[in-house]
Amino acid sequence: MLEHRVQPAIRGLRAYDPGHDMVALRRAADAALVELGSNENPYGPSPLARDAVVKHLDELALYPDPRGGDLKRALAQRHGVAVEQIVLGDGSHELLMQLAQVFAGPDAGVVASQYGFAVYSIAAAAVGAPFRAAPALAMDHAMAAGHDLDAIVAAVDANTHLVYLANPNNPTGTWCGIDAIERFLARIPDDVIVAIDEAYAEFVDAPEWASAIALVARHSNLIVLRTFSKAHGLAGLRVGYGIAQPELIGWLERVRESFNVNLLGLAAAEASLGDPAHVGEGVRKNKIERERLADALRSRGLFVFPSQTNFLLVRFGEDAARIDEALRTRGIVPRPMGGYGLPDCLRITIGTADQNATLLAALDALR
Ligand SMILES: *Cc1c(COP(=O)(O)O)cnc(C)c1O
Repeated sequence: MLEHRVQPAIRGLRAYDPGHDMVALRRAADAALVELGSNENPYGPSPLARDAVVKHLDELALYPDPRGGDLKRALAQRHGVAVEQIVLGDGSHELLMQLAQVFAGPDAGVVASQYGFAVYSIAAAAVGAPFRAAPALAMDHAMAAGHDLDAIVAAVDANTHLVYLANPNNPTGTWCGIDAIERFLARIPDDVIVAIDEAYAEFVDAPEWASAIALVARHSNLIVLRTFSKAHGLAGLRVGYGIAQPELIGWLERVRESFNVNLLGLAAAEASLGDPAHVGEGVRKNKIERERLADALRSRGLFVFPSQTNFLLVRFGEDAARIDEALRTRGIVPRPMGGYGLPDCLRITIGTADQNATLLAALDALR
């Protein structure tokens, strides 16, 4: 009955699909689930982040610092940029939406890659912006279904105002080297905003990859997004950030809700930055398990996409939906990929050694 009052861009919108209803599954389960659907960190956050949360529990009646000054100063030091080059988000998801709000619209289109992160097309649709997905690399390519940077450049036209690019990408796990990113940026008009989403940066060990943060000084249209949700293990507290030149940050600041990052999130993120050993240990374990799990799945005849992240995209063929369901009945929760146009695949977060062994045993029992 209210539909005619809803803005046209919102009417056709489908909200982000967060995967299985974990709360309901947990409630129904009689033991701890093996949760491999959301790329959460199985080792948890730094103890210093937990201490910081506890310490700030006495301040819950107070608004958080609207500028997030302490966290920004810690980030500026970490990344070698100025405080004015940082915007904080209620998760990087919020920043992805804000980028579309500021730079896209009915006459200002958005380009991303096929098999790109689902939030990109939602952000475009929410502001009524035309969205174009550039075809990904062929499945038989070494970087199966990864970004085709030439195709993205070709998809950018005079009406394109914003390009989203995850590196490494979710859900494929694939990545682009820094030289390729530099050549890509050189071919994008310098007034088209390029958002490089590095949510999985900490997990990368491929020598050709480097963060695009180093390119921000030379590209006033570039913003690099990071998050505390993955390697820092703070998904529940919702903290992300973007790094760009001060002008681009200033435009985002105009729409940012003044207290968007909560008190506990600010404190925990800052404390986590002060514990690189904990974050590094989780990354080290992830890398060992990434190789072991990929090898184990490949040895079972499954196609595993190359990954520099904390998850693997695995092709199960026609069996994918059946395997998803059968795993869930055994208390293991992967992420179905139908929404990404990959219905024959499941995305599996790399768990602890125990969790991965449980997964492999269940797969063996099913086949
Ligand atoms: C997980 C993820 C994010 C992070 O989202 P938050 O809102 O910071 O939790 C952003 N981009 C990609 C590609 C992701 O996979």
